Amino acid sequence: MKFKLSSAYGVLEEVREGPHTGIDLSVQEGTILRSIVDGEVTNVFDGSGNIGEGVKILGEDKREYIYGHMSDVDVKVGDKVNFGDVLGESGNTGNSTAPHLHFGVKENGEFVDPSILAPKLESITGDIGIDKTVPWYDVEGRAELAIESAKENMKEEFKEMIFEFLKAVRDLVIDLADAFVLLGGGVFIILGAWKLKKANRWVSILFVSRILIKALLGGYIG
Ligand SMILES: [Zn+2]
Repeated sequence: MKFKLSSAYGVLEEVREGPHTGIDLSVQEGTILRSIVDGEVTNVFDGSGNIGEGVKILGEDKREYIYGHMSDVDVKVGDKVNFGDVLGESGNTGNSTAPHLHFGVKENGEFVDPSILAPKLESITGDIGIDKTVPWYDVEGRAELAIESAKENMKEEFKEMIFEFLKAVRDLVIDLADAFVLLGGGVFIILGAWKLKKANRWVSILFVSRILIKALLGGYIG
C-alpha cells in the first residue's frame, strides 16, 4: 500500500463518539483526491463538522461515497463526476489529529466497510496519470481486461502464422507443379519432334493440369 491504513472500519477510539464509519488513510496534506465512482456530488462539507471539509458523492451504483478532512474541495453540489475526476486535496481539517483521508461508503443508507476499495482508492490518489479511456472498473477488472486483450492479440498472431504457413505451402506446390510441367512439357516436345505419337497430347494435358492446379490452389487461399 502506498498509503498506510491509520484507522480501520468499525474501531472504537477516544477521538470518536461511536465506531469508525469508514477507513483512514494517512495521506500527506495537499494530495490530489479523485472520485472513485461515476456519480453526482450531493454534499460539500464546509469544515465546521467533525468530518472537516469534504464531499459526498452519490454513485451511479446507488452507493454514497464520503471523503473527509480535506484541505481543499474543487467540486460543488450538483456537479457530475466521473471515475478519476479531481475532487480536491487531502488535509487535516475537522476532528483530525494528523493529515489523513477519511473515506466512507454507505449502502442503502447504512455505513459499510469500504476496505475492499482501499487499493482502488489508492491507485487513483496523488500525482498519477489516469487512463480515462478505461471505464471505472476496479483494479482487478483492469488487469483482467489487459489479459483478455493480450489473449486476443495472441490468437490473432497465431491465426496470421497459420495463414502464412498455408500460403507458403500453396506457393511451394505451385512451384513444384510448374517445374514438373515445364520439364515434362519440354521432354514431350522433344519426343514429338522425334515423331513420337501422342507426344503433343501429353504436352496439352500437362499445361492444362498446370492451369487447373494454379486456379484451384490460388482460389482456395487468398
Ligand atoms: Zn476516519
